[in-house]
Amino acid sequence: MSSKIIDCVLVNSPVSSPLHPQLNLPLLKSAIENNGFGTRVIDANIEFFRWFLGTNYEPVNAQRFKENPLHILSSYNDLDKKLWQASQRYEGLHVGVRSLSMKHDRLSFDSILDAVEDNISNPFIEFFEKILTKAIQPTKAPILAIGITFQDQIIPSYTLAALARKKLPDIKIVLGGQMITRCYDSIICHEGIASLSDYLVLWDGEVPLVNLLGGLLRQEANDQTNIIDLSSSKRSINRKGAVLKGKEIPRPNFADLPLDSYFLPEPLIPLQTTRGCYAECAFCAIPFGSNMYRVRNAESIIEDIKEVKKYAKEHFGLDLKYFKFMEDTSSPSLLYALAREIEERNIDIRWETFARLEKAFVEPGFMAQLFRGGCRKIHWGLETNDPDILEKMSKGTEITYTSEVLRLSAQAGIMNFCFVLIGFPGETDQQREALTQYIINNDHIHTITLATFDLTRGAPMERSYKPENCYALTCEPAQQFQVRLPYLVGGEDWKAKIIPIAHRMMIEIIRARPDIGFVTLFPDQVRAMLTDWHGNNWGRIFVEQYGAENIRQLLINTEEYADNFESQREIDYTSLPEPLTREHFRTKEDLDLLRKSVMLRREYENRRLNQL
Ligand code: SF4
Repeated sequence: MSSKIIDCVLVNSPVSSPLHPQLNLPLLKSAIENNGFGTRVIDANIEFFRWFLGTNYEPVNAQRFKENPLHILSSYNDLDKKLWQASQRYEGLHVGVRSLSMKHDRLSFDSILDAVEDNISNPFIEFFEKILTKAIQPTKAPILAIGITFQDQIIPSYTLAALARKKLPDIKIVLGGQMITRCYDSIICHEGIASLSDYLVLWDGEVPLVNLLGGLLRQEANDQTNIIDLSSSKRSINRKGAVLKGKEIPRPNFADLPLDSYFLPEPLIPLQTTRGCYAECAFCAIPFGSNMYRVRNAESIIEDIKEVKKYAKEHFGLDLKYFKFMEDTSSPSLLYALAREIEERNIDIRWETFARLEKAFVEPGFMAQLFRGGCRKIHWGLETNDPDILEKMSKGTEITYTSEVLRLSAQAGIMNFCFVLIGFPGETDQQREALTQYIINNDHIHTITLATFDLTRGAPMERSYKPENCYALTCEPAQQFQVRLPYLVGGEDWKAKIIPIAHRMMIEIIRARPDIGFVTLFPDQVRAMLTDWHGNNWGRIFVEQYGAENIRQLLINTEEYADNFESQREIDYTSLPEPLTREHFRTKEDLDLLRKSVMLRREYENRRLNQL
C-alpha cells in the first residue's frame, strides 16, 4: 500500500457528522482503483473533530450505552460543550456536532475568499496546513479531489483548495459533490472563486473523475462529459451522461478510513442500494442532484456487507452490525429481496433506510419480512396528510394507503420516522391543524422531523419558475452558493410567517405526544439501535420510565425557555422550571442530561425551521 503510486488524493472536508464515515469517497476510491489508478482517501472531517477537541473528548462506549441509553445524551452534551469551548479560540466561530457557524458568509463568493485568508476566525487554515504537510504532500499525488456535499463544507473545502494553490502549486484541484453540481453555473462566472480549482465534476463522480484522470495522466482522448475545465470555455454538460448503471455502482472501499474512530458507541456503516429518486415532488431538489434513478441487486449488496464486515473484523476487531442505506429513495422490491437473502443466509445485521410511502409496502407479510431481514427504522416522506396539498406537491402518494404502510411497519417492529413539511404555498391553518391531529393520534408515527417549506435550487418549482405560477410564488434567480432562495407567496414573506407556526405546531405535538419529543433528543444514528434493543416503542417506554408528565413539562418549558433565550449561547440552567424532583426519576444526573439535551435539540430544530 505505502509503495503504491497515488494518482489522486480524495478529501472529505469538515464539517459533517462525526458519528460515522461518509460513503461518497469510498465509492470513488473503488471506481478509481478499478480503473488502475492509485488513490488515498482522507476523512478530514473526523480528523478535524479529533484535532479541534484535542485529547479532551472520548465518546461513550457501547457497554455504558447499553446499560443506560441516557449516557449517549450526556456524551453528546459533553461533546457539544467542548466544541463550544474550543470554538471560543476563534472569532465568530461555533462548531457544533451537526453544524458550523462562522464569521464569514458561506453563501457569498467574496466572503469565502476573505475566509480562506482569515487566521483569526478560520480554524481550518491551521488544520489543513497540517493535513497538507503530513498527509497530502508525501503522497506526491498530481491530483487533489475535494467533495463538497453540504453547505457546512464550503468554507473548509475552499480553505484547503486555497492552501493547496499556495503550497502545492502543481497539484490539480478538482471539486465535486452536491454543492458543486447545484451551483456550478454561478461558480464559473466568478473569477475569484473559479481560480481556486482547476476542474469541477458534476453529478455522480465516478465516471467523470475516472475520465478526468485518464485524460490528465494517460492522455486518453476520452469522454469529458460533466467535467468542467475552468481554463477552457469548451464543455459538455449532460445530466443523463457519464453515468453508471445500477449494476456498475462499485463496492465501497473503506480501506483508508479509521472505522474505529467515529463518535458512536456502535459503528454505523453507510451503504447504497439505490441511487437517485424516481419521483418528482415539486419542492424537492434531490432527484436533480443525481443523474437518474438506479437500483442495485441484492446479491451485490450482500457481498458489500460481507466484505466490509470481514475488513472491519480483520483490521479493527470490530463486529459490524448496524448499516444505514444512504440513499434518496429505496426500491420496495429490492428491500424485500435483500431482506429475504439476509434472513435465509442468517446474516447478523440491522439496517435502516429512506423510502417513499408506496402501496407496495402494504402487501401481506411485506413489512414483517423486512423486519426479519434486519430492518429496524425507515425514514418516510410523509410531508402532510392533506390530499390537496399532496397533489399540489406532485407527491404521488395517497393518505388512504400511507397510513396503512405506517401501521404495518409499526406492527412489524420497525421504527417509523416521518419527514413532515409545513407551509407548502397555499396551505391553510385548518390543513395544518388536521395534520397536527393526525400526527398526535397516529401511534404508528414514532418520531418526526418538521421542516418549513423552502424554494430549493434544482427543485421542479425552482427550475420551471415563471412569474405567473399556480403557487403565487415570487423569487429571484439563485446566486453564488445559495441553495435555498428567498421567496414570497402572494406578495407576503411566507417563510417568516410559517416559522413561528411550525414552532407552535411542534410544541402542540410534544405536549400531546411526549414520546415523540423524547425520541428526538437522541441522535438519529442511535434510534435504530435502540429499536433493536428495546422495540420500536422505546420512546413511550422511556417516557413512562422517567414520568410522562415530567417529560412533557420538561420539553414544553424548555421549548419556551429556549424561545425566550434563542439568541444567547450562555444558558443559566438554574432558572429552568424544575418539575424534576419526583421520586420515580432514577438519578439527578439523568435529569440534568435530559434537560441539556432538550436545549441542544431545540437549537437543532430552530436551525431546521429557520433555514434560509
Ligand atoms: S421528496 Fe422524497 S420522494 Fe419526493 S422527490 Fe424528493 S426524495 Fe424523491
